[in-house]
Amino acid sequence: MEQANGAAVRWHQLRLYVDNHLHDRFLAPPLTVVVAALLTLWVPVWQAVLWAGVELVVIAVYVSVYLRFRRAPVDEAGDWARRIALAHGAHMAMWSSIVVWAYQPGDLSSLMFVMLVHVGLISLTVVMSNPHRRLLLSDLVAPAVALVGPPLLDGSLFSVGLAALGLLYIALMLLVGLKIHASTLEALLLRQRNDQLISELERQVKRDALTGLANRRHFIETGQVELQRAARYRHPLALLMVDIDHFKPVNDTYGHLAGDEVLKAVAAVCAESVRGNDCLARLGGEEFAVLMPETGLGEAGAAAERLRIAVEQLRCQLHEGLVTPTVSIGVAITEGAGESLSSLMRRGDQAMYAAKAQGRNRVVIAPPLVA
Ligand code: GH3
Ligand code: MG
Ligand code: MG
Repeated sequence: MEQANGAAVRWHQLRLYVDNHLHDRFLAPPLTVVVAALLTLWVPVWQAVLWAGVELVVIAVYVSVYLRFRRAPVDEAGDWARRIALAHGAHMAMWSSIVVWAYQPGDLSSLMFVMLVHVGLISLTVVMSNPHRRLLLSDLVAPAVALVGPPLLDGSLFSVGLAALGLLYIALMLLVGLKIHASTLEALLLRQRNDQLISELERQVKRDALTGLANRRHFIETGQVELQRAARYRHPLALLMVDIDHFKPVNDTYGHLAGDEVLKAVAAVCAESVRGNDCLARLGGEEFAVLMPETGLGEAGAAAERLRIAVEQLRCQLHEGLVTPTVSIGVAITEGAGESLSSLMRRGDQAMYAAKAQGRNRVVIAPPLVA
């Protein structure tokens, strides 16, 4: 669970990184052309054109990687981080390389220009890359390496000083980027925790706390939806009303906590006995109900009998003694005649009371609804 959550957070960090780099898709291509045109002030035209051509191909590659990532499943964050690091790394290397190949040793204006391009690149990197720490670090590698270019080319004190300032700037930006990364991560973790709490809350609103079955509210909601569906398609819908026999004496004899254990055991037997499509709920107290979509009278009667026998065979060996509960079940069917849920439940209840009256531990089928 922890690991899965970690992977989800990493995927969201990557997603933020990719979303932050929207400018790569729209701004980088025209900017490449503008910068290449400006560079022709210092370098031969063919060099600027070659650089712009290669950079446009690099942009096309990483845009395709970004777009494919946005459709990728959440659990592949690691693979995509590697692909994006490679694609975006090539882009960073292309821009950083300007500092080396476009610098004309001794020409102050060219040095200032390439350094300005560089500072812009570093600032953008920190602002855009911080959601993903690994990509933030790898995006800063090429700019840092390129900074040693001018001092190597002309060895002047000015170039060395400017490169040293550039490195200091990178170090400072790195600290800023890591700080923003920490707060982004905190926000992502908070969002994840929030999502978990909301889904847990939604689960609890539908569940009965003691048995873990659906509660009355969820049963009523499901019942109304199923009734409408049954009426629309003219399909049968069966309802079993299940009540534990002589449950009060269990509480009176063994105590309320022991009674709770018996309730849980009966709920577990019911859960094992119903099909996946059925909706089993604890309506309250020692009363349960099963809603069985697409189920006719014969099938519902047989299911109720199976459930009754399963409970009858239950042996609740409690600390306080042995309890062998039984249930009385009323079965009511609606044949898509537009009957309301309360009417269906009333007929199910009446059949269940009839089972009680006939001696309990039995199944009684409600007479069909008279129109
Ligand atoms: P019958 O066969 O007629 O259904 O008899 P009964 O004793 O089961 O019926 P009655 O309605 O008189 O009693 C239901 C009992 O269920 C009363 C109440 O103490 C108990 N009960 C209801 N909710 C809970 C619960 O959450 N835990 C426990 N332990 N007992 C509960
Ligand atoms: Mg009862
Ligand atoms: Mg009852």
